[in-house]
Amino acid sequence: MASASQDLVIARPEGLYCPAGDFYIDPWRPVERAVITHAHSDHARTGHAHYLAHTDSAGTLRQRLGASIHLQTLAYGESIEHNGVRLSLHPAGHVLGSAQVRLEHGGRVWVASGDYKTEPDGTCPGFEPVRCDTFITESTFGLPIYRWPTQAVLFDEINAWWRSNADEGRASVLLCYAFGKAQRILHGVDPSIGPIVVHGAVEPLNAVYRAAGVDLPPTFRVTDAAMDKAALKRALVLAPPSAQGTPWMKRFGSDAVDAFASGWMQVRGTRRRRGVDRGFVMSDHADWPGLMAAIQGTGAEHIRVTHGSVPVLVRWLNENGLDAQAFDTEYGDDDVADQAVPETPEPKPEQPEGEAA
Ligand SMILES: [Zn+2]
Ligand SMILES: [Zn+2]
Repeated sequence: MASASQDLVIARPEGLYCPAGDFYIDPWRPVERAVITHAHSDHARTGHAHYLAHTDSAGTLRQRLGASIHLQTLAYGESIEHNGVRLSLHPAGHVLGSAQVRLEHGGRVWVASGDYKTEPDGTCPGFEPVRCDTFITESTFGLPIYRWPTQAVLFDEINAWWRSNADEGRASVLLCYAFGKAQRILHGVDPSIGPIVVHGAVEPLNAVYRAAGVDLPPTFRVTDAAMDKAALKRALVLAPPSAQGTPWMKRFGSDAVDAFASGWMQVRGTRRRRGVDRGFVMSDHADWPGLMAAIQGTGAEHIRVTHGSVPVLVRWLNENGLDAQAFDTEYGDDDVADQAVPETPEPKPEQPEGEAA
């Protein structure tokens, strides 16, 4: 039994801390050294003296936190040593640049996963299980009811919805998270159905993805000359949830059809509460089977559970023979469907959301 003093990661008021290496992982208070799993704003906060993240997170981190942050980047699998702790980053399949953090010290291996998703989606390298003694897992959708449709099924549904709206001459407005989910939708839909219009909060993130070599179809701004009335009637419109009910939406006509893409859409009543015509069950987090497969894939006997359905997952794992404990964190919910709609009319383009909203 490892004593607390030997733990490679502990929970501190500032964030998850590695005592041996003297650095934090995704801290929520300003610290000297922060390892960042991904650029969603609840994991990548402002004010740290030094940042370490995956190479593909550099664009979003600098866009959000400022070009002058002190940032060191690593490729997946590349390792460095800091105060005797060997550190490397491994694909988490969540958003562009998302990484699990592997720590090795004194013969022990811990992996902090940040946010992750187990089904590959083509916009970032797929989740790779990393063998470890202790695995720190999120639990955003840590209840057995959460089971996502496969990518193929999901995009068949979205394409069919868009096509039938376009055939009726109505714009299809799909509300989704601007960083990660919007690019996943762009990558997965059939662009031959019609033009794709994106909100001002989405396009800067598209640029970062394209610069990283991710294949996205052409996108238009609503102000582009090509987007006349006829074009908008066949358009797929991607906008963040905060754009719902704003004047910007009026351009697509009163007969536009709207939908929301989120894992929370699996819960009865969520679509109605959001006030949209259609819900697509789509998340950048692991569903229940995904969490189980990920945890099993690490071979870890010790599990630390962060943000989400913490008590449920801890109890389930303990009942199944693993040593599971909770880690208190201040991470948000980047699937947002159950959050109140913020009143700001147009979010700042440089904010690839976390959960401030
Ligand atoms: Zn995230
Ligand atoms: Zn998170």
